[in-house]
Amino acid sequence: MSLPHPPCKPQPKASGSAGRHNRAAFLARAAFGILGTVTALGAVSGAEPAAGALPSASLKGKRKSKVRRWDVITLGNLSRNRYWGEGDDRGVRSAICTCTVIQGEGFRLIVDPSLAKAEQMTAELDRRTGLKLRDIDAVFVTHEHADHWFGLAHFPEARWLAAQDVAAALNKTHKLPKQVESATGKLFDAVEIIATPGHTLSHHSLRFDCDGVSVVVAGDAVATLDFWRDRRGYFNCVDFDLSARSMNAIAGLADIVVPGHDNFFLSL
Ligand SMILES: [Zn+2]
Repeated sequence: MSLPHPPCKPQPKASGSAGRHNRAAFLARAAFGILGTVTALGAVSGAEPAAGALPSASLKGKRKSKVRRWDVITLGNLSRNRYWGEGDDRGVRSAICTCTVIQGEGFRLIVDPSLAKAEQMTAELDRRTGLKLRDIDAVFVTHEHADHWFGLAHFPEARWLAAQDVAAALNKTHKLPKQVESATGKLFDAVEIIATPGHTLSHHSLRFDCDGVSVVVAGDAVATLDFWRDRRGYFNCVDFDLSARSMNAIAGLADIVVPGHDNFFLSL
């Protein structure tokens, strides 16, 4: 799990007493951020904070929730990553997206099934949850880019769900053996569908509470942690300003963000 990061933009060089003051203030802020995170996680796990510990960061999640657990099934990666020194003009590896299973009272929901080969999807689902493909009741697709629904057909008995315009776009491809249903509001009285436009105009993410923590499964509204820090859309984003605003909105909702192509991280 990644800890919160200090500011990434280059800071002016410190000098003299003002510099020492700034550095001390920076280190104090960084220490508070890390200790606050540890304390908050202790609070979530039920551990008693040590005497004299800093107060917990306030979590946005609610204790009461029908979600029992959630698991990342595949860790995504990008086809090109400017933060690794790669250009936006061509892909240098194949991409898969981060795929998540959310389980709760009466439902098992998979988000953005990423793997095109049935045997791979079967193996990863088993490896991470012990579930079989047929155990999944519903699939939610965040947006119409194919790497987010390569594995949809492996769940023929599940309901296929997406926000209205995403469902329409998927159904128009005529590549799927059955219709994707339009979904709004809350799934299974537990998982909220939230509009997060920018990467695509109809992009939607999911938000839920689990163990008192608010989790946003962001899809490509957040590409990776590096893109999140800079509030930067991926190269194929249709509206970069809108994308940044959606990331700010997610920051206001989430304690944990599951991005579209990276491991999950804290947003406290
Ligand atoms: Zn995408």
